Amino acid sequence: SHEPPLLESRGLHAGYGPASVLRDVEIKIARGQVVALLGPNGAGKTTTVHTLAGEIKPLKGEVLRNGVRDTSPLFRRARQGLAYVGEDRTVFMTLTVAENLRVARANTDHAFELFPELKRLAGRRTGLLSGGEQQMLALARVLGRGPSVLLADELSLGLAPLVVDRLLAAVRQAADERELGVLLVEQHVEKALKYADYAYVLRRGEVIIEGSGADIRGRLDEVQDSYLSVA
Ligand code: ATP
Repeated sequence: SHEPPLLESRGLHAGYGPASVLRDVEIKIARGQVVALLGPNGAGKTTTVHTLAGEIKPLKGEVLRNGVRDTSPLFRRARQGLAYVGEDRTVFMTLTVAENLRVARANTDHAFELFPELKRLAGRRTGLLSGGEQQMLALARVLGRGPSVLLADELSLGLAPLVVDRLLAAVRQAADERELGVLLVEQHVEKALKYADYAYVLRRGEVIIEGSGADIRGRLDEVQDSYLSVA
């Protein structure tokens, strides 16, 4: 199709002061696509996410939504279907699972469709769930609102491998069934590539490798090398 990407950066330079962390970052997220953003600590992954979200203003370059330059702040982008989930599980511990979905205005049917395991936990206090179940709920709260784009920054940090797969499979399912576009920042490189349509590897603020998921899976050595000796 010739429709523009849901979200895109062009010639992006951004940082936290006058000095830029990112150098000429160009990333595209199309409808129904899971796009992995990989790279060592300090490479600029979170900075990229914050800039795409409208939390940081570009020093140079631009962010486009549906092909149109977007300079609006984070809250407005959120209203327009941009969702974010991070490593910190945004859930209310004293509420039940169902209450957590309700206060987030998530569609409960949709949330339970993506995470059937949450259904039997609906009446349980969230504080009693495992870390993995809490992160499923955090993701269900966000995806249950039917966003068009999800920015997922290390959503699987510190979780067991099986849970990581479960979360990534749900993200994949939302992309396939709901046309969600996803930017997936992941420490689990091989797992991320298993679910991704396309991947970018950042190093020192620059995209040094990019390609389809299958392509990048075949270049794993090169990707692993990019994680080495970053001074
Ligand atoms: P990590 O996995 O460690 O979070 P990352 O790839 O997400 O790495 P960023 O968090 O984007 O990398 O950091 C990129 C660079 O920006 C680093 O050099 C970091 O020290 C710097 N940086 C990050 N946050 C800030 C901040 N709030 N103020 C100043 N510099 C920052």
